[in-house]
Amino acid sequence: MVSPPHALVIPYPAQGHVIPLLEVAHALADRGFAVTFVNTEFIHARVVASGAGLEDGGRVRFVAVPDGMPPGDDRADLVKLTILMEDHIAPRVEELVLASGEGGGAGGKITCMVVDYNVGAWALDIARRTGIRSAAVWPASAAVLSTLLSYDKLIDDNIIDAEDGSALGEETFQLSLDMPPMRSAHLAWNCVGENDQQAAFFQYIVAGVRAVEHCDFLICNSFQDAEPAAFSLFPNVLPIGPLLTGERSGKAVGHFWKPEDEESMSWLDAQPARSVVYVAFGSFTMFDRRQFEELALGLELSGLSFLWVVRPDILQGGAVHDYPEGFLDRVCGSGGRGKLVAWSPQQRVLAHPAVACFVSHCGWNSTMEGVRNGVPFIAWPYFADQFVNQVYISDVWKVGLKAVADKSGVITKEHIAARLEELMGDAGMRKRVEALKKAAHESIQIRGSSYGNFDTFAEGMRKA
Ligand code: UDP
Repeated sequence: MVSPPHALVIPYPAQGHVIPLLEVAHALADRGFAVTFVNTEFIHARVVASGAGLEDGGRVRFVAVPDGMPPGDDRADLVKLTILMEDHIAPRVEELVLASGEGGGAGGKITCMVVDYNVGAWALDIARRTGIRSAAVWPASAAVLSTLLSYDKLIDDNIIDAEDGSALGEETFQLSLDMPPMRSAHLAWNCVGENDQQAAFFQYIVAGVRAVEHCDFLICNSFQDAEPAAFSLFPNVLPIGPLLTGERSGKAVGHFWKPEDEESMSWLDAQPARSVVYVAFGSFTMFDRRQFEELALGLELSGLSFLWVVRPDILQGGAVHDYPEGFLDRVCGSGGRGKLVAWSPQQRVLAHPAVACFVSHCGWNSTMEGVRNGVPFIAWPYFADQFVNQVYISDVWKVGLKAVADKSGVITKEHIAARLEELMGDAGMRKRVEALKKAAHESIQIRGSSYGNFDTFAEGMRKA
């Protein structure tokens, strides 16, 4: 009997990466691949502890490797984590590939690697050295990927510095006439937080660009109609989305926190159609006390019902959540308009008919999840690629309104309430988001473009 193709799938160790890469892993398993999924030990422990991650009847085999950081270190320091991974994860991954060829490990010989682009060039280099096929998965927008792939042009045009990628004179640039202007300060490598390793990080990104030139496929969790200009600029990037992220057959997969399924869904079931504001800021966003308070008061002032995800670690400094005085009793008590959860089953929430709009940090997964469910946004970015995603939501697709800070940098309660009122009453916005939803759905149906691209990718990876 011929053994099935065996894919080694490696996500970047963060929530917004593990979730979509796990969906890619399952989609390959659906097509007959054996799949080994490599998490860091830290992430593996989190997913196991959440109880909402690995239950899949053994279709995907999980392997955990050390990330090189001491136990108590700050894994939100993405620059440090990224740079450490090469030294610590690469040797283990190479060992896995080589041992599988000698009959070690379950699933037979590893025949291909499917690697999160953000993991770095080293992973694709291992595939090249060991002579197996490889694909890079870009779990964010094609527009942001285009900025990476255009780094040399940005240097030539004096938009960014050649050493560390920092913004030079021009504030904005356009990659093509059909793409929106982007701010050089908003290039992903320029807004992942303060760090003293900016140059090393940028060079890491440059190495990644060189490495993907040699891999067999570069796939992206987006769809043709969402970003036609970016896909025509880089036709080698195959859109395969929007992926159904975070759940498989109605069950949560890949979550770092336990989704409060029953709590969220039964509360939504009791609400009228299109009446609820869903508020969630992904896995990284942090608020200071003032902003947290304004958000709470803005939701109260709006007079609308809301389901608000308040992650246990959402307040800076790890403080216990400081709700405004009396807020919980007034708004979130029994029979109140507000419902708080620590983590939601977000795909299911956004698909619920009671949800009217999404106050979002514009993480790409959240953006695609809102779009595929036809939910308009209040777009409130926090870091990295989220600023570009906000531009697509509000200026390109016109399916959401920007949350705008006042002079002191705070998004005020009055602004939040006013934006919600404006969004809820905007029929054009709803029409546009429904049209985008339809295009998203068509792309993932059997004859749709993303579906076809995934097949092309899977068939290509199947070849010896
Ligand atoms: N998510 C979730 N429940 C929540 C908040 C987020 O399931 O309460 C999921 C969300 O559906 C998405 C992922 O976590 O798939 C977050 O990824 P995203 O790219 O939106 O943001 P990031 O966390 O990377 O900033």
